[in-house]
Amino acid sequence: MDRFAYINGSYKRHNQAEISIDDRGLQFGDAVYEVYSYQNGRVLDDDLHLNRLERSLGALGIKMPITRDSFKTIVARLVKMNNLKTGLVYFQISRGTAPRDHFIPKKKITPNIIITTKSMKIPDNSKMVKPINVISQDDIRWGRVDIKTVMLLPNCMAKTNGREKDCEEIVFVKNGVVTESASSNFFFVDSDNNLITAPTGDILEGITRNTLFDCAKKLGLKVIERKFSIKEARQAKEAFVSSATQIVRPIKKIDDSVIGDGKNYDICSKLYDMYMKIIPKIVE
Ligand code: PLP
Repeated sequence: MDRFAYINGSYKRHNQAEISIDDRGLQFGDAVYEVYSYQNGRVLDDDLHLNRLERSLGALGIKMPITRDSFKTIVARLVKMNNLKTGLVYFQISRGTAPRDHFIPKKKITPNIIITTKSMKIPDNSKMVKPINVISQDDIRWGRVDIKTVMLLPNCMAKTNGREKDCEEIVFVKNGVVTESASSNFFFVDSDNNLITAPTGDILEGITRNTLFDCAKKLGLKVIERKFSIKEARQAKEAFVSSATQIVRPIKKIDDSVIGDGKNYDICSKLYDMYMKIIPKIVE
């Protein structure tokens, strides 16, 4: 079946969707993106993702090029055209097209908008979620990882290193403290069942991370945002990563250390199921 993408006002087959070679996203990484999940008629946290999209654009001095309602209308149409059941919705907005020059154009240019969907299984409940192994890596990313830009080469390289060692994610460590993962936020559970995660600053403030704070509250669990070392994380009772596409993914091993007893992920499971419970059922 054909797969369709939205590009600058048109719906095109993927292999026919084109962008100028002078797109500043392509030339300089001068673009931001968002990802959220779609699951049988439900969009997970879409308003919060659109808020962050606006924030990321604002940090680069770019205005939202179309209204939120227009974004939602396009997504609904793409979901239908692509017959999407479960998967993800991807938005990429660059500053626009201009002759290649490091100086950001003084004159306003029209942002380039790309929206795609991808079919992907999103488990209905925690029983279907498989734990992963992770390894630690130096966090060599730039200083504004709080903006969701497309400059993901360090993340791609780190993840690829991880996969060579049978790890589906990695844990970034900067100046001795854990920041986050390559495409997710990192949490661990301490011996008092508190959820520990890095404070904002050196991380992307994950939408799922923040919704999980609400889930934790509903479950009577305390969340503590503080700095911690990889050594402390390796001694955790449970550990997990969070992101829009994985929600909560338990970690079996960090480097060579098995987390907890390597079998029980009770808190991860409760958080996953609570997340699925609090997301509005049907939006169409
Ligand atoms: N941190 C990084 C570096 C990411 O790339 C992502 C998701 O892409 C996250 C955290 C998780 O963010 P969210 O929960 O909004 O998907």
